[in-house]
Amino acid sequence: MKSLMRNIQIYFLLFMVFLQLSCAKTEDFKVLHELTGGIETNCYLIYGVKSKEAALIDPGGPVDTLITFIKENALDLKYIFITHGHIDHVFGIPDIKRIFPKVKMCMHEDDFNDLFTQKEWAIENYGSEFVDFLKSNPETSKFLDFDMHSLGVPDIFVEDNQTFQLGSLEIKAMHSPGHSPGGICYYTGNILFSGDVLFYRTVGRTDTQHGSTEDQINSVRTLYETFPDSTIVYPGHFQPTDIGSEKTGNERITLDKHNMQ
Ligand SMILES: [Zn+2]
Repeated sequence: MKSLMRNIQIYFLLFMVFLQLSCAKTEDFKVLHELTGGIETNCYLIYGVKSKEAALIDPGGPVDTLITFIKENALDLKYIFITHGHIDHVFGIPDIKRIFPKVKMCMHEDDFNDLFTQKEWAIENYGSEFVDFLKSNPETSKFLDFDMHSLGVPDIFVEDNQTFQLGSLEIKAMHSPGHSPGGICYYTGNILFSGDVLFYRTVGRTDTQHGSTEDQINSVRTLYETFPDSTIVYPGHFQPTDIGSEKTGNERITLDKHNMQ
């Protein structure tokens, strides 16, 4: 019970830090965060302060705090942006679509096509240890019973360089394959949502269905080359980081060698 309370306090603190960070760095939009699901996926809410138009990124589980915030602030939830089609990034979507039926679900077509073979692929390739791992936690065990068809068909198949509007705020998509074939990073201003491509001091695994180490290296290097060092990175898991410190401190992909260690 004590550790549960401690965790709640930490998450609340993290939530507030995100709010402060985004306020300090931007004027016309805000980013909020909620940790969700058995694999602790980061779900983000981004919204225009004036327009009140909003998008959720990777609702991988119940995001009650963010949903309450959307309702209490009368935000217009326009999009669900999916960085990639893994279960821990999409699990919360059916509930959100029930609450906000007009919301448009956005993901890359390659990852949509992989959704329906993902579980069988993982069981076949990771073995029974994988199933035991999922069953060891009530939150992750729900992943085993989840019907991917309950997500429905995406309203928008996201392509490289596609843009989306939240009021006057433009959000752009960058195709970033490697962890999955249809990985997408979303960005606006000095904020980059990196999904499971780039994490704090590490990168996403590539022993995944249609994963590619070579693509992953290219995707991360493209992020390094595209975005200024000051760009804040909000990843799919773990704490936020920035492009500059990853260039020098991320030992998984070095700047001077085209290899992943
Ligand atoms: Zn993933």
